[in-house]
Parts: sequence; C-alpha cells; structure tokens
Amino acid sequence: CSSEFVPAFDNSAMDGFAVRTGDCGSASPGGPVVLRIKETVRAGTLANVEIEPGEAVKIMTGAPLPLGADAVVMVEATSSEEDGIVRILQTPEIGEHIRRRGEDVRCGDLILREGTRIRPYELALLAAQGIANVSVIRKPSVSLLATGDELLEFTEPLSPGKIRNSNGPALAAALSRWGILPRYQGIVKDDRQSMREAFQKELNDSDVLLVSGGVSVGDFDYTKALLEELGLQVIFWRVAIKPGKPLLFGLLRNKLVFGLPGNPISVMVCLEEFVRPALEKMQGHTPRYPSYHLQGNLENEYRKEEARQQYIFCQVSETSEGFRVHVIRPQGSAMLGMACRANALALAPVGVKFLEKGMGVAFRWLK
Ligand code: AMP
Ligand code: MG
Repeated sequence: CSSEFVPAFDNSAMDGFAVRTGDCGSASPGGPVVLRIKETVRAGTLANVEIEPGEAVKIMTGAPLPLGADAVVMVEATSSEEDGIVRILQTPEIGEHIRRRGEDVRCGDLILREGTRIRPYELALLAAQGIANVSVIRKPSVSLLATGDELLEFTEPLSPGKIRNSNGPALAAALSRWGILPRYQGIVKDDRQSMREAFQKELNDSDVLLVSGGVSVGDFDYTKALLEELGLQVIFWRVAIKPGKPLLFGLLRNKLVFGLPGNPISVMVCLEEFVRPALEKMQGHTPRYPSYHLQGNLENEYRKEEARQQYIFCQVSETSEGFRVHVIRPQGSAMLGMACRANALALAPVGVKFLEKGMGVAFRWLK
C-alpha cells in the first residue's frame, strides 16, 4: 500500500504562469489579458506566495502551485513578459495544467498487487514512494548442458566430423533476455558416466535443467534413460510439433527438467513455446504463451505434415492490404541461416497439410 500521495502537492504540469481563471475569462490572441507577474517559482522550492486578482506567478513544471491560483497557462499561450507583465492569449479552464495532490496515487491505495511483474513502471512507482525493499519471488536458477560427441565450443577450431555448440550460447542469450542468467555448463560427451555426473551436479545446483541433445531415438541418445535412472518422472516425451518433436519434460524431486532436441532450430522453438511459459509461471506470472495474434496472407504455398503443428519461419512485410507472409524455403530444423533470414514465425495447425498461396495464417514476430 502507498504511504504517500503522488503527487505530494498541487503542482504545475507546464512551464508557464499560474493564474486565477476569474481574471482571464476573455483572453484571446486579439484581446489578451494583462497580468502583473508577482514572482517566479522554481521546481523544488516552496510557493510561499498568494496570487491576488490581476496577478500571475511565473511557474516551472513540477513547482508547487501558489495559493489563489486555479490554472496554469503554458508559456506558449502567453506573449513575452515585459516590465513585469505577461499577456495571456488563451482562456484557461479551471484546473488546467495543474497536477493535483494525490491525483495519481492516494495515501493508503493499493499500488501493486501480489504477483505483479515489476516492470520499469512499477519500479519507478516504488522509487517515487521511497520503497526500497519489496518481497519478490526468487528467479529460478537454470543450468544449461549441451550433449554430443560431435560438439566443440564455439571458440575451438573445427575438426573433421565435428560441429560447434550453438545451442548453449543461443539458450543463454534467450534466457538472459528474459532476465535469467543461466549457469552455462558447456558440453558433455555422449557417455553415460559423464552425463550422469553432470545431470546430478546441475540438479543439485539449479531449479531448472535444460539439456540439449540425446533425447531422440538414436543409439547414443542417453539423456532420457539416464534422467529416468536418476528418478525423473516423465510428464511428456515427444510432441506433435515441427520442429521440436523429440521434446522431453519431466520432474525430478522438485526440479523441472527439459530434454530439448539437439537441432538448433528445434531447441529455440521448444524454448520459446514450452520453457518460457514454465519459467514465467515459476515467477508467479500467468504464462504468456507466445501469441500468434497477427494475421497475414501467404505469398507462396507450403506443404506440411498433417499430423503436426508446424512453426514456419517467414519473412513478413507490411503492405496497404495487410501483412504479406513469405515462407522461407527450404525450412529445416538445423538451418540457422534460414532462421536468420526470417523476421516472423507462422503457426500452421494439425490437420492442415497444404497451405495455399493467398491463404490467411497466424504469425508472431521473431524478436
Ligand atoms: P541429437 O538430438 O543429439 O541426436 O542431435 C540432433 C542434431 O542436433 C544433431 O545433428 C546434432 O549434431 C545437433 N546438435 C546437438 N547438440 C547441438 C548443439 N549443442 N549445437 C548445435 N547442434 C547440436
Ligand atoms: Mg546427440
């Protein structure tokens, strides 16, 4: 609850002149009202002055309103002061350009409900009230592990048969944009012992474990089996989406575990569609599933798998007839170059297998 009024005192919303409206009834550019300037009040000072009929007080934005004044005429509606007088060129309304004590927040008002996300606006209100400490839900700690014998860190030179770990940096970058600095734990080989040790360690240290790779059905995909050995309660494994089908989600003690597909595009789609809502919910927010609330028309056709919901990378442009959606071809779950040419992600539902040119599709921007 608020313990102070905001604003704390009546003050001016403009640089101008505090006046009595009764004096300015007929002011116009052709027939200005002439007032005597009694004083100047600056922001941060006290207005120990009262305006008498025929007088004005020069006032700055944020400065306290002098007694007797019931409006402020902005500088732009006056003509230059000379010999201590000002010409008022516009009839002010009562209360014009005055910010009244408590008009925004009154003492005792509930200002922030429990569960409110503290955006810069909320933070500013807390600061304005002098509230330095608030109880918040702790941000979840998140560990990132990339699995794969083929992986090298991005600082390493490429050697035959190897690829660089792009998932680690991509996940870390996305999480940090959402306000979470993850524990970046690099690469683990497709080796049961090292994977088990790494999982155990991260499950002890973090609230959420994100593992990329090894959740599919390859001979060396140990992630799921090992996590189950450690006690994972699988909530779901494999989802009817493309990309991202091998996604695994489960609970281990009170920790959330996501087994993300290895493919770099799949990993990002699963992160945004599944991990982000979970992280938000853990922080007390109603999950904001990425909403595909924008609508555009396809510029080119696209054939998809009927049984899966597909996230399609597109280049969307705005025209006078609405948004035009150009599907980037080919699409592929490992095609980072393709994704970098896209500015939007369109959503095509289960049950549809052919998207015709001109058809309407839902999309969201890729931020
Ligand atoms: P997996 O699910 O382990 O079979 O991996 C599927 C595909 O994703 C393979 O082509 C992997 O090489 C690739 N991949 C796995 N992890 C990463 C990673 N951290 N960065 C980039 N590509 C990866
Ligand atoms: Mg692998």
